[in-house]
Amino acid sequence: MREPFFYDITLRDGNQSLKKPWQLNEKCYIFERLHELNVQAVEVGFPASSHMDFEACKTLADMAWNNLIISALARTVQKDIDAVVESISHAQIPRVHTFLTLSPFHMKYVLNREPQYCAKKAIEAVKYANDKIKKINKNAQIQFSVEHFGDCSQNLDFVIDTLKEITKAGADVINLPNTVERTRPAVFIEMVKKVKKALGDNVIISLHNHNDLGMATATTVEGYFAGAGQLECCLNGLGERAGNTDFAQVAVALHNNGVKVPVNLDKIYEISLIISQMSKTPIYEKAPLIGPEALAHRSGIHQDGAIKTKDMEFGAYRPIKPSLIGRKDDEKIGFTSQSGKSAVYEIINNAGYPVTIDEAVRLTPIVKEISEQKGELGTNEILKVYFDEILNVKGAFELVSFKHTSGDEFKLEFKFKGEYKTAAGCGNGPLDACLDALKNAGFPRKLSHYKQYALDEDKMGSGATAMSVINLIGKKGEEIIGRAIDQNTAKANVKAIFNALNQVYK
Ligand SMILES: [Zn+2]
Repeated sequence: MREPFFYDITLRDGNQSLKKPWQLNEKCYIFERLHELNVQAVEVGFPASSHMDFEACKTLADMAWNNLIISALARTVQKDIDAVVESISHAQIPRVHTFLTLSPFHMKYVLNREPQYCAKKAIEAVKYANDKIKKINKNAQIQFSVEHFGDCSQNLDFVIDTLKEITKAGADVINLPNTVERTRPAVFIEMVKKVKKALGDNVIISLHNHNDLGMATATTVEGYFAGAGQLECCLNGLGERAGNTDFAQVAVALHNNGVKVPVNLDKIYEISLIISQMSKTPIYEKAPLIGPEALAHRSGIHQDGAIKTKDMEFGAYRPIKPSLIGRKDDEKIGFTSQSGKSAVYEIINNAGYPVTIDEAVRLTPIVKEISEQKGELGTNEILKVYFDEILNVKGAFELVSFKHTSGDEFKLEFKFKGEYKTAAGCGNGPLDACLDALKNAGFPRKLSHYKQYALDEDKMGSGATAMSVINLIGKKGEEIIGRAIDQNTAKANVKAIFNALNQVYK
């Protein structure tokens, strides 16, 4: 399948809609990011609009990488076209992008001109641009945009006839914008197909869709499948009013539908954050792909599916693997009253503490009850419940002290149901000796498994650095997991034994 051609308009359409348009150094910085993204064409500005814009176009044309098309905008007037030629014709592949409306409404009420006048002006401008720039640079190209093409359903035959003349006059690319999103995708695509069929394969069809009703991505993606070769997109969907077609959404949607996309998708997330900061346009929470919430799951059913498919290419409830667009954070699991055991399990595990699914089941109703009052709970709030219910569980046993006496002998002091007890024990290390002392005091327990973890970070501020997990055999042969944390590893072991005992003797 043919590859789509990405024409980035962040520095022109995106920039012109900013409350504070970018300075030259900022434009250069973004241009370098576009290089990292590997777009195929960049519209660098509208050189006739100001001296600053002219200089920016000139500088960016100097910076162009190999095979990049550098395009600049001009109305269908000679002085605008001259400014484009002057500012960018030294680029390897410069492109004059000129535009005029052919929409009945716009010609009548905004330009106050007859259709024939507009057609003639457009054809003449393309011819002028073509003669002028191709004399200087034989690689140069001409693009013509039918402003408000989406409003041209009534006079489409006239538009097509005019575009045939424009193509003959030298246009290499015909851009068909849904300038204000008034036309729904399916109707717009039918119009694009008619133009494509009439003009044949010698001219590239381009799309430039605005997002007034939130359908620009759909129109652009479907337009590609209908035969458009060039897709005009803007990073973070910047642009006039509700913005232009979002670059990331189109690139990823095509990728997800089996199209080989010639851009570095893994740069998308980082560049989006940069553009958001530089344009002072926050990425909204629910923004597809790049929003802070775009990969968050809160309901129990969704969390369960997300966790089960976490490492797979296609997730149960996500459109992409986050790494596809360079997002480091995995699917975020947030706990609310709608969440379930999988979320509790995942959040505690992700925080670096061992927990079993059975324990998560036990903790879930407690956490849910808190969440019903407080809304979404942070990791620390869930860990607090884990600490209270699992690590510091209260029961019949209370450790008083455990001391090394001599050789392999230790002395254990503890309370059982408030009654003070003392016992000596010996063994191969403190863990063994403690179990021996308990046996001597009348509480024999067998060890089935033992593990000690180093806690890389003391999340609860308790000063603990080691966690012991001790599995003892219960009264009916079941496993009881005891856990404890302490700075001292031997003490963590003894505390873990008492933790397990307290689960048996409540
Ligand atoms: Zn636009």
